[in-house]
Amino acid sequence: MDIDFDGRHIWHPYSAMPAQSNALPVVSADGVYLTLENGRRLIDGMSSWWACIHGYNHPVLNAAIQSQLSQMAHVMFGGLTHEPAISLAKRLIDITAEPLQHVFFADSGSVGVEVAMKMAAQYCFEQGFYNKKRFLTFRQGYHGDTFGAMSVCDPVTGMHHKFRRLLNNHIFIESPQCGFHQQWADHYITELEVHLSQHHEEIIAVIVEPVVQGAGGMNFYHPNYLKKARVLCDRYDVLLIFDEIATGFGRTGELFAYQHAQVVPDILVLGKALTGGYMTLSAVLTNSRVAEGINEPFMHGPTFMANPLACAVARAAIDLLLSGGWQINIKRLEKQLTRQLAACADLKGVKSVRVLGAIGVIELHQEPNWSDVQNQLVTNGVWLRPFKNLLYTMPPYIINEQQLTYLTETIYKTLSQL
Ligand SMILES: *Cc1c(COP(=O)(O)O)cnc(C)c1O
Repeated sequence: MDIDFDGRHIWHPYSAMPAQSNALPVVSADGVYLTLENGRRLIDGMSSWWACIHGYNHPVLNAAIQSQLSQMAHVMFGGLTHEPAISLAKRLIDITAEPLQHVFFADSGSVGVEVAMKMAAQYCFEQGFYNKKRFLTFRQGYHGDTFGAMSVCDPVTGMHHKFRRLLNNHIFIESPQCGFHQQWADHYITELEVHLSQHHEEIIAVIVEPVVQGAGGMNFYHPNYLKKARVLCDRYDVLLIFDEIATGFGRTGELFAYQHAQVVPDILVLGKALTGGYMTLSAVLTNSRVAEGINEPFMHGPTFMANPLACAVARAAIDLLLSGGWQINIKRLEKQLTRQLAACADLKGVKSVRVLGAIGVIELHQEPNWSDVQNQLVTNGVWLRPFKNLLYTMPPYIINEQQLTYLTETIYKTLSQL
């Protein structure tokens, strides 16, 4: 492959031009393995940014796309509809909480977040809440890279410093400080309560990642926070949006992370694993109060809305997940990750190790030279992409015991050499 051309002409995520390091050339992928041009195989501990939960080159997902392709690849969704969209929407309404009855299909997670924010805003304006113009969210959150999404990302680690002049001024509160397994106490909710009581008249919605804050810092927090947040949002007439783009479809041990708290958001955003990592698609679900409260047309409509190939593979990916005893499988991964990563806690430089569902995180005291670490991992046949002071894995759910052992041992070995 012309890696030289790649580095000079093609942007990769969060990278400069020309590139400061070469991207690895991948020629194929199968199961949990990526195959590089030089023939080396890597276990993908990232599931391609948390999306490829069933592994690569899955016969059932391949067949779903191929069969849809022979019918039609795409048609516009304005004024037209099709079975893949209807069938997927029915499935999503079925598997999510009962009040969520209306679905908007968007192109990516970030766009799904834009849609959720616009939905909440248009609802408020049409209900006559003209003073509402801000969102409330946590520090250390991540909701995507487009403008609306970026404006509710962590103001320090997000891109606020670069785009400050263009971003709306939303309200940030401390991320929940009570860990998932810690003892809950009501003082953890005080800051949210104070802000809602003081500012509710200008707040459209609270938007958060439920239970797991992903790309902003891999924090696992107590579900009671969400229970209390739901009560407060109802009391102060503020909508509640859950961004489950990272957590949806079993990753945290529940099908959706909000189920840990047994609360239902007004708007739910799904993405990433929705298509099993095959294609880009997101879905925004909402209740009848919001959907029917927007009396006028809802003003959003992407060119590739509800792409039939993406909808068909998403439907197949969901059915595959639900048919496979996924909950027992995630427990298996959680137990193995907990057992095998525990040893990392004793390594020099490691601050903490935490596991929830099929997520394993090792937090260091300081950010090491990750590119050395990554080279070392690749040499040993493992693909991970650490950030800040965090080395983590979110493996495909199909990873077997031996493969996961190899992954965790390689992590241990690599960190022990720092
Ligand atoms: C990845 C992610 C997004 C953005 O999704 P894209 O498909 O990359 O636009 C938004 N929110 C959360 C929680 C995510 O993990």
